[in-house]
Amino acid sequence: MRVRLCWRREGRKPGERKYSAAQLRARLRGDWEDTLRYIVSRDQDHGNTHNLIVQRDGATIVYAALIPRNALMPIWLRQRDVSAELRQRGLMGRITKNHAENGSSPTIWLQDDRTPDAHEVADALWSWPGVLDLAKLMPQSPVSDDDTFDDCPAPDHSLLGSDGAARRTVIRSEVKRDHRVRRAVLDRTTTCEREGCTAVRDYVGFLDVHHILGVEKGDRVWNCVALCPNCHRDAHFAPDADDLNQRMLEYAEQFKSGASS
Ligand SMILES: [Zn+2]
Ligand SMILES: [Zn+2]
Repeated sequence: MRVRLCWRREGRKPGERKYSAAQLRARLRGDWEDTLRYIVSRDQDHGNTHNLIVQRDGATIVYAALIPRNALMPIWLRQRDVSAELRQRGLMGRITKNHAENGSSPTIWLQDDRTPDAHEVADALWSWPGVLDLAKLMPQSPVSDDDTFDDCPAPDHSLLGSDGAARRTVIRSEVKRDHRVRRAVLDRTTTCEREGCTAVRDYVGFLDVHHILGVEKGDRVWNCVALCPNCHRDAHFAPDADDLNQRMLEYAEQFKSGASS
């Protein structure tokens, strides 16, 4: 399976989600249809039976179109026809480019809500026999909405080794958390919030949310800091962890309502 990511899905206003499309290849090889044939034959050579086209919105998967290899070309052709027809009927407003021929890249569309009728292009994908939206098969609330993982679990040596085929049941109690707190902390920074640490990685999930006094004391943004994995271990296990947490608490004070920033 080949996984492809969609580019752009923004409207003019923040939060407005208007379209979603995936470029299949940066450059043409011959004409458009030659290029599609090349893409499909390369997938065949590699033993890829499906393309999975994914649209993310933060940590949430909005669309995950699973497309059988041999459907890719006919879907692209169909979207091109639908797009041309919409333009002919004057239903694409000021948009004059064909959806499928996007610059020099053959493009598959998962969504277009820029005009009232533009959705017909994406409809051609979703109504194609054998195409599935795996995002619809996932649980409605993503894992990040129910963040009941331990803040930073201590190593448990009893988990070392293997039980072969045996399973065991583990019962544990957890403090229920509000995922919005975690979200708000991750939204306020892109770097580790430990003083002097500037660690940053450009992917979702790099930063942990550390509850300075423990989650039982307060699941609040002013009891939390975003930390890189190294600093998070320090906050729990370093010899000077108490000092470190005290300084973090002073830092996080600014996020109390009414605090001067
Ligand atoms: Zn922690
Ligand atoms: Zn750090």
